[in-house]
Amino acid sequence: MSNSNKWSSGVHSRSGDILTYNLHGNCYVNLTNRCTLKCNFCPKFNKIWDVQGYNLKLCADPSVDDIVAAIGDPTRYNEVVFCGLGEPTMRLSALLEVAEAIPEQIRVRLNTDGLGNLVQGMDITPELAGKVDAISVSLNAQSEDVYNRHCRPPLTGTYPALLDFIECAKQYIDDITLTAIDGLEGVDINACREIADDYGVKFRPRELDKVG
Ligand code: SF4
Repeated sequence: MSNSNKWSSGVHSRSGDILTYNLHGNCYVNLTNRCTLKCNFCPKFNKIWDVQGYNLKLCADPSVDDIVAAIGDPTRYNEVVFCGLGEPTMRLSALLEVAEAIPEQIRVRLNTDGLGNLVQGMDITPELAGKVDAISVSLNAQSEDVYNRHCRPPLTGTYPALLDFIECAKQYIDDITLTAIDGLEGVDINACREIADDYGVKFRPRELDKVG
């Protein structure tokens, strides 16, 4: 697919922001640019906002109505996925409202850094039940030390909070996948896979700058 085709398959707001974008037959929702981490591998912290042909920089967080309108008919897609250059759970209520507007037969996936409980100061996973079918959690590393080096969390206790989120989410969401980027310095993909096995959830190695 040419770049121009990719651009035209994103839905823009009046200000030109890309609110949703299409990849792999899925509709990806660009809910916010705000983030809980400052990952050194993140394109936006390297002043790059283009991800697979889409410029995901937002002038402002889009409204729920604008997102729902941008998704349009969800039955055109395999999945609706919350995944932009920001952490969707930073806008928990908007995330839940949009998810609620998606018909039951369409799979809804949340791609998250797994820090929603830490940032919101409560267990958010019961709120996701029945609205989100699958969660991909960026585990990113096999240890707190390696995680902190790559993800540069502003808050302390982030890695244990991420692990605790997985345990909480398991009680409400059947389909959980942990991910880590293959090839980052110090990241042991096999050890990350073992952590997923220990939690009884799936694991998927990711490629840098590839949305999945
Ligand atoms: S969690 Fe994702 S969007 Fe946020 S800084 Fe890390 S890579 Fe970037």
